[in-house]
Amino acid sequence: MGLLSEGTPLQWSEVSKYVDHVREHGIIQLLHTLEKYKNRQNDPFLWGDEVEYIVVNLSDGKATLGLRQNDILGKLMLISDSENVNFHPEYGRYMIESTPLKPFDASWDSLIDLETNMRHRRQIASRYMTPTEHLVTMSSYPLLGVGHFAETEGTVKGPVTQSEFMPDEIINLHPRFPTLSSNIRERRGKKVEITVPVFHDVNTPQPWVDPLLKDRPVGVSSQEIYMDAMGFGMGCCCLQLTFQGASIDGARDLYDALAPLTPLFLALSAGSPVFRGVVADQDVRWNVISQSVDDRTDDEKKTIPKSRYDSIDCYISRKNEILNQNTDFYNDIPVVTNDKVTEQLREGGLENDPLLVQHFSHYFIRDPLVIFEELLDQDDKNSMDHFENIQTTNWQTMRFKPPPNASIGWRTEFRPCEIQFTDFENAAFCVVVVLLARTIVANKLCFYQPISQIDENMKQAHVRDPVHRAKFWVRLSVQDQDKDSKPVFKQLTLNDIFNGNDEYIGLLPLVRDYLKSPHSEPLPEKVSNKVNQYLDLLSKRASGELDTAATWIRKFINSHPDYKHDSIVTEKINFDLVTAINKIGSGEGWNTIAQSMFRGF
Ligand code: ADP
Ligand code: MG
Ligand code: MG
Ligand code: MG
Ligand code: MG
Ligand code: MG
Repeated sequence: MGLLSEGTPLQWSEVSKYVDHVREHGIIQLLHTLEKYKNRQNDPFLWGDEVEYIVVNLSDGKATLGLRQNDILGKLMLISDSENVNFHPEYGRYMIESTPLKPFDASWDSLIDLETNMRHRRQIASRYMTPTEHLVTMSSYPLLGVGHFAETEGTVKGPVTQSEFMPDEIINLHPRFPTLSSNIRERRGKKVEITVPVFHDVNTPQPWVDPLLKDRPVGVSSQEIYMDAMGFGMGCCCLQLTFQGASIDGARDLYDALAPLTPLFLALSAGSPVFRGVVADQDVRWNVISQSVDDRTDDEKKTIPKSRYDSIDCYISRKNEILNQNTDFYNDIPVVTNDKVTEQLREGGLENDPLLVQHFSHYFIRDPLVIFEELLDQDDKNSMDHFENIQTTNWQTMRFKPPPNASIGWRTEFRPCEIQFTDFENAAFCVVVVLLARTIVANKLCFYQPISQIDENMKQAHVRDPVHRAKFWVRLSVQDQDKDSKPVFKQLTLNDIFNGNDEYIGLLPLVRDYLKSPHSEPLPEKVSNKVNQYLDLLSKRASGELDTAATWIRKFINSHPDYKHDSIVTEKINFDLVTAINKIGSGEGWNTIAQSMFRGF
């Protein structure tokens, strides 16, 4: 999360009076920022990751989420800058986010510095855990919302979420977060409704009877796990990467270049096979978060196809000829925009930049969700607060970030990945994406495909065991720079896409070729050894030789003596699972505990 404003947040009935005010001033602020920074050139290639952790108490055979976020962060904020670590609050009061303080650069060494920095972050944060508390990186906590899953006496059906499963006490105490939750609920006129398909195991009753639900809400089928609070989604952990482009156009090009990769990396990083204590028929968190912050009313759903948390709707490059000569072919889904905002952007100087106008006008169909009374009136020339209010509550697979001040350039964020158990894996996913970004730029590769294919790929990423059961659209010729040639698209497996086959070169071979090509600075052996491990890890995950985190969790549950093959994860199974993941993450026998994920490393 970005900076947290201090002050009094308005309740929804008050917010709704100021939604146009925030939108109008947000756009004025954006226009000032564009004016100030549109001509920035030659910014260095910088990048940095974000890792999200959960704090779990493991003692006496019981696992509970620890809620000492404020205490822990209070101490972590005091860590010296020389450690190059930074810690941030997150939605769940059991969550912590960490980033490097200073971003990494384009040097080869940065590719190994990342993992060192990640380990350092985990070690530093671990110092502030009590003896029973542990910092764990797993995407969805299996028993979130089940029984006494967190260290609180708080009870369910609190005023903020009214959830049947989750007490409000698990939400970050800063007023922004409970207000975000209740304003979403009030805006849509009812609680959020999250459903994911249940995995039918051999002893799972047909039709399935949810042990935690007395009455199934209208519209929820007997095949679904039902959840009803923002925390089920925003309480999941992810892995994000931000890149600085050389200029505004560099960042826009990179946004488009990486967008087609988002479903592929979501699927390959899959680590969320259980929700609310029930084994699901999907392996990723994405649609759970999407539903958990969906503030659309039933009426709006007829005209606005996606939640604020969803995959991107349009490409934005101004320079790419392939896109600009075939805009309707690639930007092929209807993009809902706000007419007033479109007008304001055009009149503000963007009349010749329809793709950027469309991008921001689409973001600005949403209402601001949290407004601090004290911050209603701002200096629009120097503040981006109203803009960021809308921008940072459009949670999409990619984010295009304008400079917040003169010391930072135009950036692009890659947001699909699920968090992995170990810093080795988290670094592997990041470094491969960084290298893909560099390869794409250096070799002017083209991954453009119609946005509708990316949407279809997002659905495929939600298929259980996507490595073996899903296929994803790709553009076969990535070298294709001829704007008139007819591109060919085909659905391939993750193995074919990452490792290549006789029709498709493959993402990892592209990176390996890039690394072998001559560079002004030769690749040090230490770096190439490490990078090869990262490439091998992703290669073997994609081929199925090694398990994804989700598959490994499924196997763990399936072979647990307490598991009755009825799709239910008990407290004991959860305790043993989280204990094992904690050991793996802290480096204790990691590759023996999870042989099937790490064999050979
Ligand atoms: P947010 O939560 O808004 O996405 P964070 O500040 O939590 O962003 O993290 C963004 C990441 O970007 C961090 O790893 C940070 O080190 C990195 N970063 C900081 N400055 C730059 C920059 N100029 N270019 C690229 N990345 C940067
Ligand atoms: Mg975060
Ligand atoms: Mg962050
Ligand atoms: Mg954030
Ligand atoms: Mg979680
Ligand atoms: Mg982020």
